[in-house]
Amino acid sequence: MTNRISHWIDGRLVSGTSGRLAPVFNPALGVQTADVELASVTDVNTAIASAVAAAREWRSASLSRRAAVLFAFRELLHARTDELAKIVTAEHGKVLSDAVGEISRGLENVEFATGVPNLLKGGYSEQAATGVDVYSIRQPLGVVAGITPFNFPVMVPLWMGANAIATGNAFVLKPSEKDPSAALFLAQMWQDAGLPDGVFTVVQGDKEAVDTLLTHPDVAAVSFVGSTPIARYIYETGTSHGKRVQALGGAKNHMVVLPDADVDMAADAAVSAAYGAAGERCMAISVAVAVGDVGDALVDAIAARLPKLTIGNGADPDTDMGPLITAEHRDKVAGYIAAGAESGATVVVDGRQADLPSDGFFLGTTLLDHVSTDMSVYTDEIFGPVLSVVRAGTYDEALAIINANSYANGTAIFTRDGGAARQFQFDVEVGMIGINVPIPVPVAYYSFGGWKDSLFGDSHMYGPEGINFYTRGKVVTSRWPDPATSTVDLGFPRTR
Ligand code: NAD
Repeated sequence: MTNRISHWIDGRLVSGTSGRLAPVFNPALGVQTADVELASVTDVNTAIASAVAAAREWRSASLSRRAAVLFAFRELLHARTDELAKIVTAEHGKVLSDAVGEISRGLENVEFATGVPNLLKGGYSEQAATGVDVYSIRQPLGVVAGITPFNFPVMVPLWMGANAIATGNAFVLKPSEKDPSAALFLAQMWQDAGLPDGVFTVVQGDKEAVDTLLTHPDVAAVSFVGSTPIARYIYETGTSHGKRVQALGGAKNHMVVLPDADVDMAADAAVSAAYGAAGERCMAISVAVAVGDVGDALVDAIAARLPKLTIGNGADPDTDMGPLITAEHRDKVAGYIAAGAESGATVVVDGRQADLPSDGFFLGTTLLDHVSTDMSVYTDEIFGPVLSVVRAGTYDEALAIINANSYANGTAIFTRDGGAARQFQFDVEVGMIGINVPIPVPVAYYSFGGWKDSLFGDSHMYGPEGINFYTRGKVVTSRWPDPATSTVDLGFPRTR
């Protein structure tokens, strides 16, 4: 009998009522390890009702109590990183060191949120008019939902949940049904850290659960991370039901390599950023734009590095790259390689021909050269270990290629020229920029977000924008009667 993964409602594991299940796999072994329950409308309504009650209490918790819970959660997460990383690797497939890395990036967001007493400080203007003071405060929204993708089952829930909880909301997480166990581990740790029941809830599920969250009148805001078509749907449905929504979508991240770049540095960066986590990262580099005559040297340097990568079970410490999330996704990625070859790209390294473990959803690394912008390998988000090289004659041509792309999550430039890098940062229409840094995920005290089809809504995630997203501003204008006019003797001088 396979293991059953259920919901976390009101501080305990709860079985749902739908009778619907989805299989969960260990992608390195290609075997089903569990069934996850898919919540019904009734299950989600029950979860929201518990969150509504918890939110009412939690908003009254003092800032120091909230900070104390976050500090305790931070300690637990730190202490239990290795256990949690194993859970992530077993369901996602990424190598253990990468799972630890994802937890560390999530931990940064918890550490940021421990500063909530400082982050929620308002403003105060004394004597805005005679005897009148004006001040601002920020208050929680109530119940907020997070809908997360399979590729970061710990980090993305922490991008959202740490700030949502710190600011006094109850947070309902709907994790990906492909790797649902990490969310329950987080739930247990929140409880162990002293968070009251109902403030952190997990509903496992699919579209039915998502649609219930998007339309329920007691959900005030929705944070989403996932693919662009679903992000657009989440944004449109959530906002049309009166909710605040931030919906982060897919990506096609370009790395520009100028002719003066350190080619070895650029090739090392391209290999780790394109093939790390088997390319299943929203900030993965999927296109290298080689400018001028750097193309041949760059392609040779990347191709020379690929045979050195060990592909296998992520639980093995010698593995550099694990499997893809499902067999269907692996086949879809392989289909893009075939389409690239048919449309005229040069297949320098073909991942379909790699020597791979026979079980599991593996695909080798692929390097395509002379890719043009009309090919499907260029236009579509592949989300696999495929790097396309596009040749550009000049910096302006490279820039035009990036700015014409509908995705605009991250990008990077490799050069030794500070002026060129500065001009790129000014010109490029993308939300996050790396200068000789291939994956420029902002630290937790800045905010994360792309532009164009990579983000729907006007609020980036975590950091200062996360604090604003999960709170509403209130401004108080106050006047007190002059104590000198009091009819009670306050011992206050009648004239001053
Ligand atoms: P996905 O869009 O398939 O799923 C994301 C979430 O939406 C999951 O919880 C899923 O259950 C739910 N969902 C899926 N289909 C739905 C539907 N029809 N209606 C309602 N809900 C639905 O994404 P994924 O495959 O889990 O993750 C990979 C994608 O996420 C990639 O496109 C990647 O670029 C993107 N991503 C973006 C960022 C970012 O920061 N911009 C970060 C990580 C991942």
